Amino acid sequence: MGLIVQKYGGTSVGSPERIREVAKRVIRYRDKGHAVVVVVSAMSGETNKLVALINELNPCGSAREKDVVLSTGEQVTIGLLSLALEAQGCPARSYTGTQARLMTDNAFSKARISEIDGSRIQHDLDEGKVVVVAGFQGVDSEGNITTLGRGGSDTTAVALAVALNADECQIYTDVDGVYTTDPRMVPEASHIPKLALEEMLEMASQGSKVLQIRAVEFAHKYNMPIRVLSSFDEGDNGKSTLVTREEDIMEEVLVRGVAFNKDEAQLTITGVPDQPGVAYKILGPISDANIEIDMIVQNIGQDGTTDFTFTAHRNDYDEAMKILTETGEKLGAKNVTGDDKIAKVSIIGGGMRSHAGVATKMFHALANENINIHMISTSEIKVSVVVDEKYLELAVRSLHEAFDLAGV
Ligand code: ADP
Ligand code: ASP
Ligand code: MG
Repeated sequence: MGLIVQKYGGTSVGSPERIREVAKRVIRYRDKGHAVVVVVSAMSGETNKLVALINELNPCGSAREKDVVLSTGEQVTIGLLSLALEAQGCPARSYTGTQARLMTDNAFSKARISEIDGSRIQHDLDEGKVVVVAGFQGVDSEGNITTLGRGGSDTTAVALAVALNADECQIYTDVDGVYTTDPRMVPEASHIPKLALEEMLEMASQGSKVLQIRAVEFAHKYNMPIRVLSSFDEGDNGKSTLVTREEDIMEEVLVRGVAFNKDEAQLTITGVPDQPGVAYKILGPISDANIEIDMIVQNIGQDGTTDFTFTAHRNDYDEAMKILTETGEKLGAKNVTGDDKIAKVSIIGGGMRSHAGVATKMFHALANENINIHMISTSEIKVSVVVDEKYLELAVRSLHEAFDLAGV
């Protein structure tokens, strides 16, 4: 018997019926003697609706006001779930991020949690209440509402689990765990019962949206086990994935899964002087504009000039292109080009550390399908390639097959 933090995503609270089902599950856990803190997302589709409203009125408006709007979806669900719990005879109390004193920095739309004062929550738990906290939101030191980035309720849950010293952080979603790739794209994907936090970190950062990357970073840093489960399973004994420390995983596999990210864009500047400081001159203005860069490739210089390519989020493409064009003029570059129809596909696995030839096998599988690779990047436990977006699904399927991931 201990403290459990349960997080329910958008589809899990997408209708009154679903909210009632969530309340039933929470009560089952409480009846077993657990103290339960619940983190909820906005009802499915609601945050997207808020984004659309913002874009209709003032897409370039202030980030502070956007967060005021974006955070409202979660306020609805905390109240509704608390009412549903009450209706089923369970005392409950809801908290917005501000009320829960979930402190963040002031980076609106991508704020980082700095501190959580769990004393009020603990007090309610001690009184036998279920505490329902709004995901995805916090408050900065000046009292401004902040949001944590799309998918950020996962991070709220893990951070609360750490702050309250919970036994486990359960993430309920619409799939019963982490699979070898997105089961919506590849139905043959296999369920992974246990996964190392390091591997999940790479999968999330390479685009597997089942867990927000910052949630996994938090869990990794504070060693908080995460269990991913389906809120659509009736009982409490369905399949799940435990994401935990590497030492707790018995077998180390070569390739654990295939992740992909469609939201990428590629920008190239050619014929720039091959001199010290050129990378800084090109990327400095991009990062000054708060645009995150992912892969970077600089070619070997020829005739005193070099070419430079990098990838960024597709939403930042137009702005990055504008900045790069200005830089190109300053540096006397030959050309500035770009492509916002690219995607990144990655293979991830802890076993890569001790095995050579994994990348070669990946390139072979892609070559067999005639898929051209634009860029490559590697780390200890992953290999990523950039391909044309139109080949994304084919690339994911062929890699899933080449590494025998179906029916593992
Ligand atoms: P929630 O609203 O509950 O937070 P998300 O949509 O954020 O749910 O995350 C769940 C989705 O993640 C699944 O429906 C699935 O399509 C997707 N997904 C992507 N990669 C994977 C993977 N490797 N394993 C499981 N699900 C994945
Ligand atoms: N509601 C937010 C989103 O749609 C946060 C979340 O669901 O985790 O991104
Ligand atoms: Mg999510």
